[in-house]
Amino acid sequence: MTAAPRVAFIGLGHMGGHMCAHVVAAGFEVTAFDLDAAAVARAAARGASPAASAAECVAGAEFVVTSLPGPPQVQDVLCGPGGVLGALTAGSLVVEMSTSSLEVGRRIQTAAAGAGVALIDAPVAGQTIGAQAGTLAIYVGGEPESFERARPLLEAMGDPDRIVRVGPAGSGYAVKLLLNLLWFVQSVATAEALTVGMRAGVALDSLHAALVASPANSVFLERDVLPLLSGGDYDEGFTMKLVTKDLGLAVDLARDVGVPVELSSLVEQIHRRARAAYGDQAGEMSAIRLYEDLAGLKLRWSTDD
Ligand code: NAD
Repeated sequence: MTAAPRVAFIGLGHMGGHMCAHVVAAGFEVTAFDLDAAAVARAAARGASPAASAAECVAGAEFVVTSLPGPPQVQDVLCGPGGVLGALTAGSLVVEMSTSSLEVGRRIQTAAAGAGVALIDAPVAGQTIGAQAGTLAIYVGGEPESFERARPLLEAMGDPDRIVRVGPAGSGYAVKLLLNLLWFVQSVATAEALTVGMRAGVALDSLHAALVASPANSVFLERDVLPLLSGGDYDEGFTMKLVTKDLGLAVDLARDVGVPVELSSLVEQIHRRARAAYGDQAGEMSAIRLYEDLAGLKLRWSTDD
């Protein structure tokens, strides 16, 4: 019997905590590290071996998975002093699953190649609920052989039908940033349409049903906004600090490739206003709350009939 592959998992937050538990449940031998000792303790309670540093975590690992806040942490954990690439065995594979930038992606690719280590970018979509269920969508950028090698690991965390290689290194980051950009544009557009409709005297239930049945329907309108409309859930599983980080990276990407994106820049600023109003830890739907407050209403199903 061959031993289970050894996986080092770094970054055990809202997403990584659940993803790590799925990797353990799939039979990999997992060592886990996070700066937050409580997160490491939770991972240990779910079957991972705790590590006291990133370097200790990756010693002897065949795979390293990272799920970190953003570009500075990705660069620091992989390339900084005491970082992963200095401690990994040549021939191992890094699966970088944070929403990060193409620029830092290029830097970590170069550093990984110098250390004889393969690396793919594999950011995810599906919210904390998808991480918990093990049904994330995963967008991979990198060499086809590395993608195939990582597939059993990725399938432990995601929906096999929505784990896709989208192109060479960096493509996964680009797809993920643009997916988020479009979704957060839709959240502002939806907030505007629904608050104006309610102020014009249309019941939210009728307005929502009519829009869902119309050519203007979207997954956001039909599905993702429902927890807010029914229970006031602004989804604190994805914080405004990270939302504005992602939107800033998407607008930076547009600037880097020379495409003017007036609408995206404006939408980014609306989400930054929501973060300033409600705080770094406020939920990802907070821009909608901004419109509710401006219009003096709550976007909730009526309960009196
Ligand atoms: P989070 O802030 O909850 O978790 C990040 C974790 O990384 C924290 O536990 C933190 O302590 C740890 N960390 C930070 N710096 C570290 C370091 N130097 N060494 C070790 N650990 C370190 O973030 P999250 O919501 O889990 O998101 C993780 C990534 O996934 C982000 O890039 C985010 O944009 C992306 N993402 C999040 C969601 C979501 O709904 N939350 C959905 C899709 C993608």
